[in-house]
Amino acid sequence: SIPLSFFGGIGGASKKGILVKGSNYLEALAQTEIVVFDKTGTLTKGVFTVQEVKPQNISKEELLELAAFAESYSNHPISLSLKNAYGKDIDNTRIANVEEVSGHGVVAEIDGKSVAVGNAKLMDKQNVSYSKEELIGTVVHVAADHQYMGYILIADELKPDAKKAIQDLKSAGIKELVMLTGDNKIVADKVAKELGIDKVYSELLPTNKVEKLEEIFHSKSQKGKLSFVGDGINDAPVLARADIGMAMGGLGSDAAIEAADIVIMTDEPSKIATAMKISKKTLTIAN
Ligand code: ADP
Ligand code: MG
Repeated sequence: SIPLSFFGGIGGASKKGILVKGSNYLEALAQTEIVVFDKTGTLTKGVFTVQEVKPQNISKEELLELAAFAESYSNHPISLSLKNAYGKDIDNTRIANVEEVSGHGVVAEIDGKSVAVGNAKLMDKQNVSYSKEELIGTVVHVAADHQYMGYILIADELKPDAKKAIQDLKSAGIKELVMLTGDNKIVADKVAKELGIDKVYSELLPTNKVEKLEEIFHSKSQKGKLSFVGDGINDAPVLARADIGMAMGGLGSDAAIEAADIVIMTDEPSKIATAMKISKKTLTIAN
C-alpha cells in the first residue's frame, strides 16, 4: 500500500505548482542521478526576437514576408517570432501546400513558388547553397524555388531562474546535467556555458534526441534515475522514454502535459529542485 506521507508529498508539491501524476514518480524523483534538459522553451523563454535581416537580391520587407507567409500555419516558437516581426496580415489565398519539417523548418508554396524557411539542414535537403557565416544566434535561412534569398537572425533569452535551477540541482547532489537541442552549436554552447551545464548536444533531430537519451542512460548507475525536462514541442518521445518525464506547463504543448509524469505549472525550471526536495522529504517520512 502507499504510505500516507506520499499523499502529503503530492499535495505539498501541487501547492507549489508542481503536478505529480503518481506516488511512484515522487519516489523515482528522489533517486534522480541525471537531469537532461531541452533548451528552447525549457531553459530559455522560447520567445525569439529578430536581431538581423539579411536579404539577397530582395528587400528586407520581402524577405520577412516570405518567411512569415511560409510560417503562417506553424505553432513553433520561431514561427511566432517571424510572424510578429513581419507585423502585417497574412493573405492565406497566396499560400498552398504547407509542410512543417520537424527539426528543420517549413516548406510552402507562396504565389506558386516553393519557399523553404529553416536551418542549414533544411537548405541542404533542398539543395540550396546558403551563407555559412558563423553568427551568434539562431539562423533562419530562406529560399524560393531553390534560390537563396538570405537569412533572418533571431535570439531567445534565458528564463530568469534558469541559472538558479542548475545551481540548486548541483547543490541537491545531481551527478550529471545535460542539455539537448535542435538549435545550432554556437547558441547551444553559449547557453550551456552561461548556465553551468557541462554536457551539451546540439543540432539534434527529434529522433536523435531519443537516441542520445539511450546513450546517456548507460552512464547511470543501476539504482539511479534519469529525469528529462522539456516543453513538449518536438520532444514528447523523449519525455516518454525518461524514467521521469517533466514538462514545463507555461508555453508547453498539451501533448507534453499529457506525456509527462510531472508538470511544472509555473514555467519555472527552479521548481525541479523544489520537487526533488519534496520527494526526498516524503521518502524520509515514509521509511
Ligand atoms: P529545440 O526545441 O531543441 O530547439 P526543435 O526540434 O523544435 O528544437 O527545432 C530545431 C531547429 O529546427 C530550430 O532551431 C530551427 O533551426 C529549426 N526549426 C524547427 N521548426 C522551425 C520552424 N517552424 N521555422 C524555422 N525553423 C525551424
Ligand atoms: Mg523544443
